[in-house]
Amino acid sequence: MIALPKLDLLTAITSLLYPPVCAICRANIRGGQHLCDQCDTKAIRIVAPFCQTCSEPFEGAITGAFTCANCAHRTIHFDAAVAAYRSRGIVREIVHGFKYGRQIYLRHLVARWLYAALNDERLRERRFDIIVPVPLHPTRERERGFNQASLLAESLSAQISTPSKPLLERIRYTTTQTALDRAERMENLHNAFRLRKNADVRGLRVLLIDDVLTTGSTLSECARVLKRAGATSVHAATAARA
Ligand SMILES: [Zn+2]
Ligand SMILES: [Zn+2]
Repeated sequence: MIALPKLDLLTAITSLLYPPVCAICRANIRGGQHLCDQCDTKAIRIVAPFCQTCSEPFEGAITGAFTCANCAHRTIHFDAAVAAYRSRGIVREIVHGFKYGRQIYLRHLVARWLYAALNDERLRERRFDIIVPVPLHPTRERERGFNQASLLAESLSAQISTPSKPLLERIRYTTTQTALDRAERMENLHNAFRLRKNADVRGLRVLLIDDVLTTGSTLSECARVLKRAGATSVHAATAARA
């Protein structure tokens, strides 16, 4: 965290020396932007129809009530998890570069995609008392040097004037979720999170933040902990959805 202002300063100095280029194709772009217009249009939006609970898009036309296969046969603890973009193509590439490639400047672009999720009708009219990032295990955070969800939550906090606080902590160092199926993910996450000491969420409307939603198991587990501790509602927003 301490290294960030330095990095921002470095970014500012670098942009004076080198004209800004597109993060994908390296074409020259205007200052303050991260993608050229052409690459920008390649970011895939999530469009209706999609699951109201987990935002899983459906192929083809859906009429009437339905149960999303991702949400069926399990208890989902968040009220809704919203993403505006698919984690495919350039979105996946940028999030990957931000998260694993130490390209921390990309957080501005990823935060813009996250911000787009707040325009969804499930979130647009809502007021939140607090923004809470999904925590990393301290060991993982040390390895990576930062928690991507915290950086995104802080960026959002400034934009919507709502405080962001790391009220949750991850107490189990879980193996990577990527290779696991849904049941294995749930088992892997059981009791992985808890409320931080002295954190009080009673009566609060929480907006939970993560970079990518895959099955929603992590967000659901965090929401379960927050609701058990007395949160009135827990909605989630992510920059992208698998
Ligand atoms: Zn480009
Ligand atoms: Zn669903």
